[in-house]
Amino acid sequence: MKILISADMEGATGVTWPADVLPGTPQWERCRPMFTSDVRAAALGFFDGGADAVLVNEAHWTMRNLLLEQLDERVEMLTGRHKSLSMVEGVQYGDVDGVAFVGYHTGAGSEGVLAHTYLANSITGVWLNGERASEGLLNAQVVAEYGVPVILVTGDDLTCDDALGYAPEARKVAVKDHVSRYAAVCRTPTRTAADIRAAAKEATALAVRYEPVRGGPFTVELEFDAEHLAAAATVVPGVAPTGERRVAYTGTTMYETIRTFKAVTTIVSAAVEEQYG
Ligand SMILES: [Zn+2]
Repeated sequence: MKILISADMEGATGVTWPADVLPGTPQWERCRPMFTSDVRAAALGFFDGGADAVLVNEAHWTMRNLLLEQLDERVEMLTGRHKSLSMVEGVQYGDVDGVAFVGYHTGAGSEGVLAHTYLANSITGVWLNGERASEGLLNAQVVAEYGVPVILVTGDDLTCDDALGYAPEARKVAVKDHVSRYAAVCRTPTRTAADIRAAAKEATALAVRYEPVRGGPFTVELEFDAEHLAAAATVVPGVAPTGERRVAYTGTTMYETIRTFKAVTTIVSAAVEEQYG
């Protein structure tokens, strides 16, 4: 049995502030071992539960944050960026039985510690078929297309609430309780590692592949914080304006839908000006 861990950093133990997750800062360096501790604990829990392989896919920023040398020797880690399925790269390899979202967070426009959807500020809302979408919700739809269940979600308490919507069966671990976008009541890495390992062990029983879900068509609407970003997004074929700061497009599969999403975010981030957005 093989488990894929998609590891994002905003929802990691102890993380509440932009510098905590901004590669190159001293504070990011300080938080990397706590992020690694969460991932390490999840992997150990899956092995405890009977998994014989764990692939960790780095899913934050430049996708080089975790400390490989602190992971269990049975773990393999996919590090670095430019991957077909981005945050859930690996699920398409055909041998994954369950996916864990570790260090996840709530979506743009929602309450939650460091809440955002892919771009930290420029995107103010994302909707999938009319429902407000977090990264967790979007990626859960992607993995469903491969017939792989989401079995574990970790992050702040509001991330766990969000996951009730897209992965009701999954085990959830809140490593911190939301106070504001930049504040949380945090539990120590020792405590959260124990909680995550125990939950992952239980979650292993949920790692049973099912018939792939063909749920399309998928309509994604995005709202930006500035009009010119919506205009920039329409460079991507199929993306059309739906309002002053909004665009939408429709994909027939989630594979296509998430890849178009990636094209939109890549073009939009290139159009952001440093001071004025
Ligand atoms: Zn994220």
